[in-house]
Amino acid sequence: MSSTMKPHAVCIPLPAQGHINPMLKLAKLLHFKGFYITFVHTKFNYNRLLQSRGSDALNGTEDFQFETISDGLPPTNERGILDLPELCRAMPVEGQRSFRDLIKKLNKASSWSDVPAVGCIISDGVMGFTLQVAQEFGIPEMLLFTPSGCGMLGYLHYEDLLERGYFPLKDDSDLSTGFLDTVIDWIPAMEGIRLKDLPTFLRTTNRDDTMFNYNIQAVEIAMKAQGVILNTFDELEKEFLDVITTKFPQLYTIGPLSLLQHNMSTTHHLDSIDSNLWKEDKKCLDWLDKREPQSVVYVNYGSLVIMTKEQLAEFAWGLANSKYPFLWVIRPNLVDGGEEILSNEDFMEETKKRGLFLEWGPQEEVLKHPSIGGFLTHCGWNSTLESICEGVPLICWPFFAEQQTNCFYLCNKWGFGMEIDTKVKRQKVESLVRELMEGEKGKEMREKAMEWKKKAEAATRTGGSSYTNFDMLIKQLKQEPI
Ligand code: UDP
Repeated sequence: MSSTMKPHAVCIPLPAQGHINPMLKLAKLLHFKGFYITFVHTKFNYNRLLQSRGSDALNGTEDFQFETISDGLPPTNERGILDLPELCRAMPVEGQRSFRDLIKKLNKASSWSDVPAVGCIISDGVMGFTLQVAQEFGIPEMLLFTPSGCGMLGYLHYEDLLERGYFPLKDDSDLSTGFLDTVIDWIPAMEGIRLKDLPTFLRTTNRDDTMFNYNIQAVEIAMKAQGVILNTFDELEKEFLDVITTKFPQLYTIGPLSLLQHNMSTTHHLDSIDSNLWKEDKKCLDWLDKREPQSVVYVNYGSLVIMTKEQLAEFAWGLANSKYPFLWVIRPNLVDGGEEILSNEDFMEETKKRGLFLEWGPQEEVLKHPSIGGFLTHCGWNSTLESICEGVPLICWPFFAEQQTNCFYLCNKWGFGMEIDTKVKRQKVESLVRELMEGEKGKEMREKAMEWKKKAEAATRTGGSSYTNFDMLIKQLKQEPI
């Protein structure tokens, strides 16, 4: 089919790695199904991609193009740290203006080039400012929310929590006096959850807090979209999804996206296109090849966690004392205050034969590797799903956002996670790593993770829930009869 005949989808993720990755997977699937794709980065990440990977990082193909809009953020800071509140303040104004110009430009190009007129917009659920632009141009828009169903259900109740007087907090002492241990029994499908297990942006004393209000608004705006897409599968989160559909009847659960890609034989489709904000270091795969099966602990806290040097030291000694080999991803901006512990002589001596450090790795390939026995994670939703795809059990150290909610269900419902307290201690890290790798609980968790892997595979195969939902989504986007 010539490009001009293709339906043209504009895909725009929130500019953070955990949002870009699922959007890119969805964009590749759409491309495989015959769509022309424009994938939109914001200026901040465009600069980061250029800095870390050069202009090749933005090479598309004839019918898969990258574009950039402004985000209103100051130029990339030296450490590449994304200021989320600043982004949420600036994007709806600056981003919206720039996005409008982009749609105008793309539609104009359709009159003299092979670029088809824009047929639909798939925007990140928390980039709802794009909806107004879609409406102005009469273009249908779907929203991809990248958190889990349970996380999303938490956000859906921010407004209720506010009305019932739980938030904003009375003062900072609420954070330390056990108030957050309060059990909430009125959120449907979330019986028994504590305030501290809900997405963390509500831990504020300020009624005008940017992140708290941004999340409330995101839900309100989303009601106006044509539909909502979630990267999860029905079998895993059925009870949460049943409640979410009462608010968003057009809900498409199509995850795990990487398994859907695999089952549609599109794993290697557009392989040359990726959007890692850091340069990926693949040498760890050779290192893993030389380890025993299920002997290595993989440690990675995703793209946004920032920990103190004290926390780093506790993790480091806990891992060292467990005596298990470990593969540890330490992003250049992971630690606030220095990584001295990693060059400490005793630590180096203890771990030189057993530990490998890298700045950014091929996480999905790592989790697939037979040498991996467990994953110490911050419970980001992508990392959680990627572990399910490979049947890998977890030690959970949730940091912020809906990671706490994911952790709660990983440990109390899905059965393949064990939690480490925020105030991490080396003895606990050591004992949990041992339990994970050699204990009875670790064995049970591995079995449970394998059960979820099988269910996820079934959901994404022909006739499975995610596979069928994806077909319906395509029909809806192409405006074909369902
Ligand atoms: N990731 C990766 N290599 C790394 C670290 C992370 O490819 O070294 C990917 C990971 O596979 C996941 C994403 O980055 O797809 C992180 O998303 P997640 O939701 O787990 O956490 P976030 O970064 O949003 O906190």
